[in-house]
Amino acid sequence: MRIVIIGAGPAGLTVAETVRAQDRRAHIVLISAEPHPPYAPPALLDHFTTGRDEPLFWKGVDVCERLGLDFRRGVGVRRLDGKARRFELDNGGVESYDRAVIASGSRLYAPVAGSELAGIANFKSLSAASALVERVRRGEAKRALVVGAGFIGVEVALLLGDLGLEVMLIEAENRVMPGIMDRETARVVEAELRRRGVELRLETRVSAFVGTRRVEHVTLASGSELAADIYVAATGVKPNIDFLQDSGVEAKWGVTVDDALRTNLPDVYAAGDVAETRDRMTGERYVHAIFPNAVEQGRIVGLGLLGFEARYEGAESMNSLKHVGVPIIAVGAASGEEELAYRHGDVLRKVFLRDGKIVGFRLSGDIRASGVYRSLMLRRADVSPYRASLADPGFGVADVIRAASP
Ligand SMILES: Cc1cc2nc3c(=O)[nH]c(=O)nc-3n(C[C@H](O)[C@H](O)[C@H](O)COP(=O)(O)OP(=O)(O)OC[C@H]3O[C@@H](n4cnc5c(N)ncnc54)[C@H](O)[C@@H]3O)c2cc1C
Repeated sequence: MRIVIIGAGPAGLTVAETVRAQDRRAHIVLISAEPHPPYAPPALLDHFTTGRDEPLFWKGVDVCERLGLDFRRGVGVRRLDGKARRFELDNGGVESYDRAVIASGSRLYAPVAGSELAGIANFKSLSAASALVERVRRGEAKRALVVGAGFIGVEVALLLGDLGLEVMLIEAENRVMPGIMDRETARVVEAELRRRGVELRLETRVSAFVGTRRVEHVTLASGSELAADIYVAATGVKPNIDFLQDSGVEAKWGVTVDDALRTNLPDVYAAGDVAETRDRMTGERYVHAIFPNAVEQGRIVGLGLLGFEARYEGAESMNSLKHVGVPIIAVGAASGEEELAYRHGDVLRKVFLRDGKIVGFRLSGDIRASGVYRSLMLRRADVSPYRASLADPGFGVADVIRAASP
């Protein structure tokens, strides 16, 4: 069997690893537009801060050789011909498949005028992040302006600060990480950013990057202008689906898949940031662009390729922040019909309920209870009997777990 996997990110590599664990003979072609061995993007910050390679190349730099993969790096796929069951590569080559996996991930999404100008950096890939860090290390810059305070924007702001730049982080909403944080937990992150010297501008919308060929300043919605030596766009991510145009693969924002992660084309699967999957809690379909989802989807696709009836349980919304100086975890919804909170010193604990069930929680300072809350949430356990103590640091963990067990 000839399996062609597009993308060597966490999703694509997990597909290859899962298949290889059971099938020594399959010919597995793994194609990556980037020139590097497979890496884990969540470890980019650690890599540039500490110089360590191990967490970044999470399966080892030699993983493709160890797994006996036919790894093509530094070559992009430009077209899928679903009828002929083959991919056309941008180096003129062609790859035919018996089974194919679209694991092309996501890239920067910058819906801001002028974002195509030269000189606008991003932190979405190892190649882009390396180019940015090299510029800083050459000493070309003193001041950086980061547009967008999602988790990538926050990470890059911290990194550039650590590398000695003056950093301004601009966010249109009234808090950092507005997609995942409630306002109060976001304040904890904001305090850490300020403590580490990052200048934060909330409720500030960048309307355009401006320059003739190269970016020279940004214009704000208020009309004022800001200039820096380095501009970073961290305004969101978007599935890499351009090469699927006219292929017959159904896609909206991301590739449409069923619960076995199959696309509408025969023998073509999709996994990771490129796929629109079902949310395990709400049932909604959208792109859940986080690492654990990509890995689990890769595993399910791998099992499907091996002929197992694997069903994906659904994606989770879960982010843990390791680099801000305070441990923080954000899981599920950031609001509910009812909000239970505990605040003491550096510890903030917020649990959101709907119909007596946990729909989300945010913990900072002490995140040890996250496993318990997550388990209760995923089981849709009725926690109303514990409402009074649910947010307390010492709530009856063992009793609640026992009561929630099926
Ligand atoms: C800086 C950063 C920090 C992050 N931190 C966290 C975190 O703390 N926790 C968390 O859960 N998630 C985090 N994420 C998100 C997480 O990394 C992604 O959800 C995950 O990498 C998705 O894996 P993937 O394999 O689907 O896609 P990707 O990792 O995007 O990999 C896809 C690969 O496919 C390649 N490709 C694309 N198009 C083509 C083509 N046409 N031909 C050939 N190759 C192609 C790309 O170059 C890329 O190498 C972070 C992401 C970034 C960038």
